[in-house]
Amino acid sequence: MNPNRAAVEEAARFFREHDRFLVLSHVNPDGDATGSALGVVLMLEQLGKEYVVVNEGETPLKFDFLPRFDRLRNLRKQPLTEMFEAVIAVDCADESRMGDVRPLFASGAAVLNIDHHPTNDMFGTVNLVRPEAAATAEILFEVAEEAGIAFNEELALCIYTGLLTDTGGFRYSNTTPRVMEIAARLLTYGVKPGEVAERCLEEITFAHVKILRRALQTLQLSHQNLVASICVSVDDFAEAEAKREDAGGLVNYCRNIEGVEVGVSFVESEPGIVKVSMRARDRVDVSAVAKQLGGGGHAKASGCTVKGTIAEAKQKVWDVLEPALGVKHDE
Ligand code: AMP
Ligand code: MN
Ligand code: MN
Repeated sequence: MNPNRAAVEEAARFFREHDRFLVLSHVNPDGDATGSALGVVLMLEQLGKEYVVVNEGETPLKFDFLPRFDRLRNLRKQPLTEMFEAVIAVDCADESRMGDVRPLFASGAAVLNIDHHPTNDMFGTVNLVRPEAAATAEILFEVAEEAGIAFNEELALCIYTGLLTDTGGFRYSNTTPRVMEIAARLLTYGVKPGEVAERCLEEITFAHVKILRRALQTLQLSHQNLVASICVSVDDFAEAEAKREDAGGLVNYCRNIEGVEVGVSFVESEPGIVKVSMRARDRVDVSAVAKQLGGGGHAKASGCTVKGTIAEAKQKVWDVLEPALGVKHDE
């Protein structure tokens, strides 16, 4: 049998075999993480299962149109003491991406790992990891079909949101015929593509614009104009009265500049902690660069978190990026 098919069957069995689940995605969740986690929740509800769906922190309110958004438990505000025997993790490349959720696993817990990151380290007891999938939501669609789940508008909306956001609105190179086929199917259940795109891709907060205005002043070309980078400091956040999620998407301004091969954003989320996002055109596999710095991701979109000042983080990234790019820093 096709090994992929067998893994999908095993995942579907996992949903059926257990009764109470912990459902989680990654820290600073995006549309795929949130859509997939809530998609899992809707599947569990259909199967008559119990669940708790958590994230280490807050989920961006831009996703509050998703069904069961109010069930997402922010563990920083509402800690849990319960330990779980069955866990479903979505869109997490490794356990460190879960943040402070790992302590809720009972010892010997059964863990289903559904993910599409090539850097996934197979932390589950059941691993359904497909790097060729555009989004974790794409894989979840297959599991739902296999498990005989009835699709409806709510489930379709969750899966569609994951597909839409991880393909950048069906524009990135991970947009395959299969993605379009699934998306088309999901529309037949009543998903309104204009409304989802408006919420996920078009609408921005005023705080985002204020952060963007400051960040663009730091935009710099380096490495023979092959790298563009942008920085946001904790002071920028304070002055723009912005939240961490308001700094999302800045890295695209870097990568989109004509001739640039790698765009990098350095976002100081708290003093001494810098979240690095990388986006590549063709020449560099940025997942390998991020991995060397303790992070991960995809060939064209990756990230890591580096300790130190923004200047120190920059130096660490350049040290790994330069050999990958074959060009030295020339500022
Ligand atoms: P971001 O730059 O945060 O939008 O992330 C780009 C891609 O890299 C996404 O697929 C993330 O899931 C992945 N990613 C970001 N940060 C990390 C990390 N620290 N470890 C593993 N994967 C990451
Ligand atoms: Mn994600
Ligand atoms: Mn994803």
